[in-house]
Amino acid sequence: MDLQELLRPNIRELQPYSCARDEFKGEAKVFLDANENPYNAPYNRYPDPLQTQLKASIARLKDIVPERIFFGNGSDEAIDLLYRAFCEPGKDNVVAIEPSYGMYKVCADINGVSYRRVLLSEDFQFSAEDMLRSPDEQTKLFWLCSPNNPSGNSLCPTEIEKLLEHARGIVVIDEAYIDFSAGRSFLSKLKHYPNLVILQTLSKAWGQAAIRFGMAFASEEIIAVLNKIKYPYNINLLTAQHAAQSISELSTMQERVQILLAERAKLSESLQAFPQVERVYPSDANFLLVKVNDAAHCYNELLQRGIVVRNRNSVPLCTNCLRISVGTPQENNLLLRALKEIWK
Ligand SMILES: *Cc1c(COP(=O)(O)O)cnc(C)c1O
Repeated sequence: MDLQELLRPNIRELQPYSCARDEFKGEAKVFLDANENPYNAPYNRYPDPLQTQLKASIARLKDIVPERIFFGNGSDEAIDLLYRAFCEPGKDNVVAIEPSYGMYKVCADINGVSYRRVLLSEDFQFSAEDMLRSPDEQTKLFWLCSPNNPSGNSLCPTEIEKLLEHARGIVVIDEAYIDFSAGRSFLSKLKHYPNLVILQTLSKAWGQAAIRFGMAFASEEIIAVLNKIKYPYNINLLTAQHAAQSISELSTMQERVQILLAERAKLSESLQAFPQVERVYPSDANFLLVKVNDAAHCYNELLQRGIVVRNRNSVPLCTNCLRISVGTPQENNLLLRALKEIWK
């Protein structure tokens, strides 16, 4: 696979913006190069466009070189940039598992890229063979999500590897929920597959959705492309400082994940005891997909009691399904108490 050939011609040719912080890196006595205000330190200065310090910390945490790391304003930025780097509007297409995370389709639509869905099996597994039947010469990206949203299950790793071996294009694995999963991240496979992009985020297991911090891991060549087309200062200093603080507290994150996993098991068991619950799907994430007898009714009744869940009834393979995030023990008890009332 020739990456340069996969790229959009305008991106291949692009001369990126060169900011003051790109031209001069390092320490100086006086900085008069960026039209910054000398007052209000440290927020008066433009931040490091490549987040060198934070990348060193994440590199250590993930056991990967900094050159294979990209940070974005949420995973959503990386998703959008992948379209903008590889997909020519009105011409190229992508192939994605269905159902999955809604942003893949929204970003395809925004970028004028056609979106080909490959339906998962009834138990939300995918087959590489099915995925490989769909693409043509204009297919640039393959979207996988594991553990998947909204189903919660991990995709079969041998099928993922099969797709990575045979796909002519970039294979993206969205691992937003990986820290909740018993399964392994594909990070260790990056060296084997130059066409692999892995997305992770601080939004879920790290509990930092508000700071908007997503990560992409890929070959140095792919990361260089993302760096070339991103906004120069896409990660602001407040976010970078907060992210650094957060990842320095790894054990706190791990303890909370353990609490949420125990709650997930309890919640799943309690839900299955209701005759109105047809099925609680196995989950490797911090939510449960639950098939009930009447999702719309249940959703509305919960809402009346001030409890919001996600109604996934209109999503393929998710008829009458609610997606329920695992909350604190108190929150989960409130949910169960409300369901007892609704279904009494
Ligand atoms: C929640 C979620 C994300 C997180 O996106 P951010 O922009 O990083 O907050 C990414 N992918 C999936 C599948 C998700 O469910």
